[in-house]
Amino acid sequence: MTPIVPTRHWRFGGSTAGQWLNCDGWLATVLVAPKIETQEMKEGTHNHAVAQAFVLGKYDLAALSPSEYHHAVAWAELVKPSEGWEVEVECELIEGVAGTTLDGVLYDEMLDTLHLADLKTGDMRVFPFQNEQLLFGAVAWMKKSGIRPQRFQLYIVQAVANDDQPATHIWGCDLATVETFEARIRPAIDRNHKATRWEVNLHPKCGFCQGRADCKGHQGALQYVTSGAAVGVMIADLPDPARTVKTLTPEQIGKILAVKKHVEAMFRSCEKLALSIGGVPGFKVGATKPRAVWKLSEEETEAALQELGVPPFELRSPPSAKKSLAELYGKKKAADAIARLTLIPEGTPKIVSDSGDDEE
Ligand code: SF4
Repeated sequence: MTPIVPTRHWRFGGSTAGQWLNCDGWLATVLVAPKIETQEMKEGTHNHAVAQAFVLGKYDLAALSPSEYHHAVAWAELVKPSEGWEVEVECELIEGVAGTTLDGVLYDEMLDTLHLADLKTGDMRVFPFQNEQLLFGAVAWMKKSGIRPQRFQLYIVQAVANDDQPATHIWGCDLATVETFEARIRPAIDRNHKATRWEVNLHPKCGFCQGRADCKGHQGALQYVTSGAAVGVMIADLPDPARTVKTLTPEQIGKILAVKKHVEAMFRSCEKLALSIGGVPGFKVGATKPRAVWKLSEEETEAALQELGVPPFELRSPPSAKKSLAELYGKKKAADAIARLTLIPEGTPKIVSDSGDDEE
């Protein structure tokens, strides 16, 4: 049995639309970037190809592995060739330059509606709202078919393991929305043909950009972070680290790990200095949250607890004694009794953000 894989690839395609539409230096960057294909990516491509073959009846359910199974079943719930869905539809927009292969497409002539679905096999959630890959697919399909539907139903099918969300998410839009998007395509391609590797624009859709490991923008941002210099880029401005590291080369990961000790020491020193001067912009002096401690000596506390009905035992912590008392007398009485027997020491000074986000 053969999985179905797309045969054509265009330089400006649907899966990279979020990058080249938003970053002029994308083309110059990916042209020199090493090709990275992680094991996770290979598995994703394989599961995608198997799911496509499955909806075409080329695989038996029983023959699928667990990871192939949940993608294939979710995809087959929406994409039914018996109802007119086509899969792996090649649509060229600009000859030899721009185009895409649509995972699943159905044109409903009666309702003049295009249904266009993309199958995702990764764990990083993607949604159809204003999704540039789906919108690009819609424009490419219009070029191929010569039809300009009035309505569009755009779907992302993504069966993420251990996730409560439904596998299929839908966004509906009209022709005007698609045409507004269409107007962005050629100018973005033209800008990419002219721009250099320095004209990149870091943005939330950098995602799994093939050029990320070699991207001047990301290299610069990493350099700022690892050197501890605050030159315009804050750590918080960087993309999610879990996403970023997946696209780094082993050499880059090694360089980051090598500076860990230095960066940690820098944080400790900054906190110490900020504490000693009573805070710095964005951070104030707060206190750790102290825990209640017994007011009396060990013997006196044990005696007092025994009087209250808590049996003898090696002296427990105040929360544990409170729990035993609550079982006997209810929560309120237990809280009052423990409050009489304990005191709350002062917290140790620590540096906290003004917003209080980091307070316990
Ligand atoms: S990773 Fe770099 S080259 Fe790729 S889209 Fe983002 S900014 Fe552009």
